[in-house]
Amino acid sequence: MTAKKQKRRIAFVGSECYPFIKTGGLGDVMYALPRALVSEGCEVRVILPLYACIPRKYKEQLKYKGSFMMDLTMEGRTFFVGIMEMSLDGVTYDFVENREFFDWGNPYTGLWEDIPKYCFFSKAALAIMNYLEWVPEIIHCHDWQAALLPIYLRRKFQNTPVGKARSVLTIHNLRFQGICSIQHLKYWSGLPDDLFDYPILKYNEDEADMFKGGLAFADKITTVSETYAEEIQTPAFGENLDGHLRYHCPKLCGIVNGIDVEQWNPAADQLLAETYTVEDVLDKKKANKLALQEKLGLDPDPDKMILGLISRLTDQKGLDLVDAVFPQLVDGNTQVVVLGTGDPRYENAFRYFESENKGSVCAYISYNEALAHQIYAGADALLVPSLFEPCGLTQLIAMRYGTVPIVRETGGLKDTVLPYQGDWTEGNGFTFEQYSANRLLDAINNAKTVYFTDRWHWDEIVQRNMQKDVSWEASAKKYMALYDEIAAWEN
Ligand code: ADP
Repeated sequence: MTAKKQKRRIAFVGSECYPFIKTGGLGDVMYALPRALVSEGCEVRVILPLYACIPRKYKEQLKYKGSFMMDLTMEGRTFFVGIMEMSLDGVTYDFVENREFFDWGNPYTGLWEDIPKYCFFSKAALAIMNYLEWVPEIIHCHDWQAALLPIYLRRKFQNTPVGKARSVLTIHNLRFQGICSIQHLKYWSGLPDDLFDYPILKYNEDEADMFKGGLAFADKITTVSETYAEEIQTPAFGENLDGHLRYHCPKLCGIVNGIDVEQWNPAADQLLAETYTVEDVLDKKKANKLALQEKLGLDPDPDKMILGLISRLTDQKGLDLVDAVFPQLVDGNTQVVVLGTGDPRYENAFRYFESENKGSVCAYISYNEALAHQIYAGADALLVPSLFEPCGLTQLIAMRYGTVPIVRETGGLKDTVLPYQGDWTEGNGFTFEQYSANRLLDAINNAKTVYFTDRWHWDEIVQRNMQKDVSWEASAKKYMALYDEIAAWEN
C-alpha cells in the first residue's frame, strides 16, 4: 500500500494582500496564489502586518490568537507581537500586530521607518509560526519587505521547529530593494557582522540591501515571468543586482502570474453596468461603454473607441511615451480614460489633457477599485507601454474583460500578449519593442485601423482574449513542482 501524502503546508509572507491592503500587483498575487494552492490541495497561511488602514469590516472579523515579546535590534530590545487571525475561502490569514510599527496609516511611509518595520515583520513571521506550533515545509516570501526572512531562518531560527522549513523568495519588482545605511540595517536587524559583506547584504561601501541578502540565502528565487527572469540578469534591468542574480541563477526561475478569475469575472461582476460572457460581449461592451462615458462626463457614443490606462503613474509604466503622443491620440472618434495616481508630473500632464479635451479625455487621478472594473469592461483597448514590467496584471485583466491590450514587448507583457499580425486565428493585442513614442503611436494606430476598418477581425481578438486561460491554475502547478524540488514529503 502506498503511503498517502500529507497536505503541503505553505506560509506566504508579504507586505500587502487584497482585499485587506493593496497598492499594486503584489496585493493581487498574495490574494490569488494562496487560493489557487488551496484548490491544489495545500494548506496555506498568509502572514501580513496589521496596518491601521485595513478596513474596519475586516478588523472586526479578526480573532486574537496570542501574543509574546520578541527581541530585535543590536541591543536586543524587546517588542510586542500580537497575532490576530481570520479565515477566508480556505486560506488562513495571520496579522502581526504592533502599534509602534504598523499604526502609521499607509503601509509604506518612507524607507527610514520602513526598514525597521519590515525587519520586525520578517522576524515576527517566523516567531509566530513557532508560537502557533504550525511549521510549514515552505515559507514563500515576497519582495524586499520579506527578504530578511530567509536569513533569519538560517541564522536565528535554525535550531527551532520552524528551522526545518525551506524558503522561496519571489521578486515582484526589483526596483525596490530596501537599501539603507549599513549602520541602520545592522542596528535594526540585529544580524551579525559577517552577513554585511558583498556576497550577502552589502550593497556598496556605505549601504546594505535587504533584497540582496535575501536572494543569497533563499533556497529558491522566483520572479513573475520567464522574460523578466532573463532580463534581470542584464545590466539594463538588473537594478545593480544583475551580477548577483547571474551568480545565483541556478536557483532562479520565472513563473508567470495569473489572475483570480472569480475576482475578475465579467459574467458575475456586480460593479459593471451589465455583466457579460464571450457570447454577448460585443453588445454588452457597448452598454458598459455608455455607462462609463456617462459616469466620466465623456460624449456618450458607443461607436467611439475608448483607450484606457490603469496604472501607478511612475516612470516604470512608460508614461513619458504616453505623454509625448497624447495630442495625437484624441481624434473625433477616439476617447481616452486614465485612472491612476503617482508622480505629480504625470498627474498634472493628464489633468491638462483632460482640460484641453473636455468630453473626449478623462483623467481620474485617484485609486478606485470599482472604476478600474468599469474601465476594463467599457474600454476597447488598454495601454501598457511599460519601460519594464516584471509581469503586469492589467493586460491579463483586460483580456479577461474582452479589452485589447496595447503593450511594449518586455517582461510579462511579452510572455502574455501575442502580437496580432493580420492572421485571424491568433494574436491577443498590439505590441511594439523599441522604447520610443513613435513605436507606441504606430502600435496604437495599427489598433485603431483594425478597430475602425476591420471590425470583424477586432471582434475576433476580443472573443479570443476572453477565452484565453489567464487563471492561476497552470502557474500554481508550477509553484507546486518547485516546492517539491526543495521540500521532502513527510508521510
Ligand atoms: P504594479 O504592481 O506594478 O502596480 P500590476 O499590473 O502588476 O502593476 O498590478 C496593478 C494592479 O493594481 C491591477 O489590479 C490594477 O487594476 C490595479 N490598479 C492600479 N492602479 C489603480 C488605480 N488607480 N485604481 C484602481 N486599481 C488600480
